[in-house]
Amino acid sequence: MAVALVLDFDGTMTDAEAEGRPFRDGYLEDLAMLVGVKPGDPDILGIAEQVEAEIAETPAKYPFLWMGRAVAPATVDPYLRMVPIAHRILDRFGVIPDATDRGRLLGSVLYKYNYAKTLGHPVFRSGAGAMLASLGGTSTWIVTNSDTHAVAGKVAALDREAPGVAWLTSRVRGFARKFDVDEAWGGAPSELALPGLERAVLLRRRSYFDILSEVLAEAGSSFEELVVIGDIFELDLAMPLALGARVGLVTSPRTPDYEKAFVMAHPRATLIEDLSQIPGFAFG
Ligand SMILES: [Mg+2]
Repeated sequence: MAVALVLDFDGTMTDAEAEGRPFRDGYLEDLAMLVGVKPGDPDILGIAEQVEAEIAETPAKYPFLWMGRAVAPATVDPYLRMVPIAHRILDRFGVIPDATDRGRLLGSVLYKYNYAKTLGHPVFRSGAGAMLASLGGTSTWIVTNSDTHAVAGKVAALDREAPGVAWLTSRVRGFARKFDVDEAWGGAPSELALPGLERAVLLRRRSYFDILSEVLAEAGSSFEELVVIGDIFELDLAMPLALGARVGLVTSPRTPDYEKAFVMAHPRATLIEDLSQIPGFAFG
């Protein structure tokens, strides 16, 4: 059996909340400028805190929307959470009403510009270095929505703290577009119902499937022999699970309860509360 392990990176190997703080701060400053108030304006910070509190309270009600579809919960990381916050701020100030313009600005321009601010100081989850070093010699890849070189740079930074992970820099496959749903593609069932979540989880994530397929071809493996580890069930895990993979959900205090309950009940899924569980789950 040729098990292939695919790891998400941001939020899975890193502490997204700590790492994402400069992203949040920078993004809110840019929004302040766009709506014509000073950086640090109390109205802007107040709206951000209000929306964050609402999302934490009822995560099932706050999807992250991409191209008009609900593709993930917004709660799980500061990058996704910023989009509903930004919509609320722009709505409140009556700025940039056009949905397409807004989508481009929030999802591309401001995302990239502010994500770059987090690159200088990656914050890894406890045990990430030792766990990744222990995977040397295995068929392991990192598949991420982020820029390939940005994540390879974080792995290189981790290698300076915890030598033995540099081999993974060439195993990063970025720009995975896990958000992209192609309803016309028939390679996966259309959707999955999660108890506790009113909307369906959309599974036809063709761009992500294509990258996983490339990795599996390189590994001489198949979806049945694939293990995927991620911190956002809908984005990272739902489609590969539906195609036969085993999956591990890395939890944080913001992981929705309905996701944890579904994963605990599924025979091919497990909760990862400590990264040291990963090698045994995948290859044990
Ligand atoms: Mg992630």
